[in-house]
Amino acid sequence: MIRDAFSRPLRNLRLSVTDRCNLRCAYCMPEEEYAWLPRADILTFEEIARLVGVFADLGVDKVRFTGGEPLLRKDLPRLVRMIAAEPRIRDLAITTNGILLAQEAQALRDAGIQRVTVSLDTLKPDRFRALTRRDAYQQVREGIEAVGRMGWPGLKLDTVVMRGVNDDEMLDLIEFARGVAAELRFIEYMDVGGATRWSMDQVVARAEILERLGARYGRIEPIEEVSSAPADRFRLPDGLHFGIISSTTAPFCQTCDRSRLTADGQWLLCLYATAGMDLRKHLREGASKDQLASLIRSAWERRLDRGAEQRLLLKDRQPLVQIGELKAKPHLEMHTRGG
Ligand code: SAM
Repeated sequence: MIRDAFSRPLRNLRLSVTDRCNLRCAYCMPEEEYAWLPRADILTFEEIARLVGVFADLGVDKVRFTGGEPLLRKDLPRLVRMIAAEPRIRDLAITTNGILLAQEAQALRDAGIQRVTVSLDTLKPDRFRALTRRDAYQQVREGIEAVGRMGWPGLKLDTVVMRGVNDDEMLDLIEFARGVAAELRFIEYMDVGGATRWSMDQVVARAEILERLGARYGRIEPIEEVSSAPADRFRLPDGLHFGIISSTTAPFCQTCDRSRLTADGQWLLCLYATAGMDLRKHLREGASKDQLASLIRSAWERRLDRGAEQRLLLKDRQPLVQIGELKAKPHLEMHTRGG
């Protein structure tokens, strides 16, 4: 296992398998036009699997497929099978918007995905359409129900809470999650690349989420656990568990063991990083496994990133990147680097 300059291990790899998405969520892709990664640059399954093998050599044991929308990547279950065949990867998960989940769930499970997280910000079809600019609410619901019917444990629902947009649905979403045996996680609206309309006014902070839920349910207990997972977990008086990912107001950089690989092979050490390492270039120039491992190791050992904590220190917090720069540098986009 390798450790960075703050002694944080490298355990988690988020694999963005495509930068394309079939939604246009207001907090992630609010613009009309996007600059997409060139097709020739997208890593093949064999290239991705080779890199995952190198990461596993260095201590990575958790992989999450993300994007863009990962289920838009053609033949994804074949890649899942290739990664699942790596015995050192103990935990294989996917984050999806759920639109294509009903049709893919069985194949993903058979291929080796252990846990599914579906992003779900509202239970109102009209609001879904306004928030995502696509009419796909019913498909997402069917995706969630399909996972339930399969009795597939470990389902999570992720909700980005935005003031004046969906913060009036926090209780309904908790109750919906209960009904489908999922654990709901509220995510604070983050000022990441792509969130060009972000403002602090729209962030509903963890403290407020707890206060508002407490007013309805009574005393909320934190669940004490040692974990590098981004969500802090809580228990309602009736026993239901839920989580809060408070990257904006209470970041958890100190335990961050995650890095990200974009679909075209840029390796990023932080969600807020402005530059990454071009692993595709090294792969395609014929670097050996040992050479790749040594590049990754030396970058990780120098890692000082704590992007979310640094954002917190800013006095006048604005979107991370303005639209002009995003168009020129699509790697800064959340949908390219994978949330
Ligand atoms: N398409 C997949 C999905 O919808 O889950 C995977 C990619 S998406 C970028 C991953 C996660 O990032 C989603 O849960 C999404 O809600 C979250 N996300 C995107 N922009 C965000 C923002 N500005 N603040 C907080 N979370 C954000």
